[in-house]
Amino acid sequence: MKLTGLKLSEPLKAPCVSGITEMAPLSRPVFVSDLHLSGRNKKTVLGFLWFLKTQAKNYDELFLLGDIFEYWIGDDASSPAEPLARALRKYASLGKRVYLMQGNRDFLIGEDFARHCGAELVADGTVVECSGKRILLSHGDKWCTLDDEYQEFRRQMHDEAFQLMALRMTVEERIDFAKKARAQSKKTKTERSREMMDVVYDEVACEVFAKNCAHVIHGHTHRPAHYVYDNFTRTVIPDWDLDDKNRPRKGWVEINSAGEPQVVLSEHFF
Ligand code: MN
Repeated sequence: MKLTGLKLSEPLKAPCVSGITEMAPLSRPVFVSDLHLSGRNKKTVLGFLWFLKTQAKNYDELFLLGDIFEYWIGDDASSPAEPLARALRKYASLGKRVYLMQGNRDFLIGEDFARHCGAELVADGTVVECSGKRILLSHGDKWCTLDDEYQEFRRQMHDEAFQLMALRMTVEERIDFAKKARAQSKKTKTERSREMMDVVYDEVACEVFAKNCAHVIHGHTHRPAHYVYDNFTRTVIPDWDLDDKNRPRKGWVEINSAGEPQVVLSEHFF
């Protein structure tokens, strides 16, 4: 199958330097991440379309905080994501605000695809305001600093010159490159401890304090939880996998009536 998609903006901007960092205060936000959508997890895709049609209506701002896709090789190869783009546009047309952030797998998502979804691309590390509190938003992988090897790989992938070079390659060349990178990551993953794949408290706290926030919300680790520390709270968004027969799961993070972020694990199954 030949992948097609949007025409990339000219002049081409590297996704790592794209995205807004400021926005109007939020009223009823919902935070989703780590859907890891691909052609292989149809139930998860359907589950997220169900979420957009039903649950998402209870909120006013939808944040997709990274790894919505298992991989992303450029907005000009976005055709498989068309059903999702259409559903997001429909949701946005109800007067909802939609924000899209890059994760570590879909780090090449750019402003062209965000616009196509009726969304705005939002930069990792953006601060939002809700119920009078400042909330730091991130995918979270940048704080997994015990994993030197991963951080080195991340630095390479987030290099502006590299991204521009990659987006100028043909789609076929990029597919080949992504497959090799994925195989390499699978090979090394087994050697990593559980601790190495979690965020480091000091790294998170440093950014939370520098940006004067009361809360931080992130994904990436697939360990949904709400932590209360002395000076801030940290809420980890659940990952989704409805194709996993043994442990089908989905969920999101909302702001509860007390103005605190809260994990919602959804019990609804198909
Ligand atoms: Mn991730």
